[in-house]
Amino acid sequence: MPMVQNFDPGMISLLQKKIKMIKTDEGGIYLVGPIKLPVNLLGETAEFKWYCWLNCDEVTEDFERIIGKLSSANLAEFQQSSVLVHGDFQNADHALIRFHSICHTGDIFGSKRCDCGYQLKQSMKHIAEYGNGALFYLANHEGRGIGLFSKALAYILQENGYDTVDANLKLGFVDDSRDYSDATKVLKALRTKPITLMTNNPRKLEALSQAGLDVEERGQLWGDVSEYNEKYLKTKIERSGHLNEGEGCCNND
Ligand SMILES: [Zn+2]
Repeated sequence: MPMVQNFDPGMISLLQKKIKMIKTDEGGIYLVGPIKLPVNLLGETAEFKWYCWLNCDEVTEDFERIIGKLSSANLAEFQQSSVLVHGDFQNADHALIRFHSICHTGDIFGSKRCDCGYQLKQSMKHIAEYGNGALFYLANHEGRGIGLFSKALAYILQENGYDTVDANLKLGFVDDSRDYSDATKVLKALRTKPITLMTNNPRKLEALSQAGLDVEERGQLWGDVSEYNEKYLKTKIERSGHLNEGEGCCNND
């Protein structure tokens, strides 16, 4: 058992104001923010507000208890998801939303095997230009939910002739195990008005509508096709039911 810590009451009251608990069937989602986050977006500074959330079995409004668990929870081993919000997100009549699945190779290294890095930057740019919106960065979605190590194995299979769907299946995974329920709950806590979703993936639309979100429109996100990801993108369209109505042929939702 972790030692009971005596936190500075001033610090606790400061943090408590910024934490909100969202009750779920499995426990609580603790949402912290907003936190100012100016972002370098293709050479220009864009103002975003950042929120991060943590799932916990315990459901309590006593946030000191939750804070007390953090130092022994080894959280760096388990990534947390977060959301970047722009404009008057709660009240604006229209808002652009992107649910972005983490992609270590694409987002961080700029890998050309997929188009995640491109989609990430483009969606932030679209949101900033639109004036209101949110980019959800979903940390448990690596490799469509198989995790980074398994994704490395899947890439080896892909280099040896398997397509991206088969590679996941051969390793014993379902093709796509991503879950949007927590992100949906966080979105509802931040905004209840209709949203415009940026995606080429009908499964995402379905998941969000089923979760009771008012999705009024679907914007698309295409681009950055190259010799390295052509086959991957083709598979997404032919085998994963992605929509291909945009210019070019690309998606990696
Ligand atoms: Zn990717």
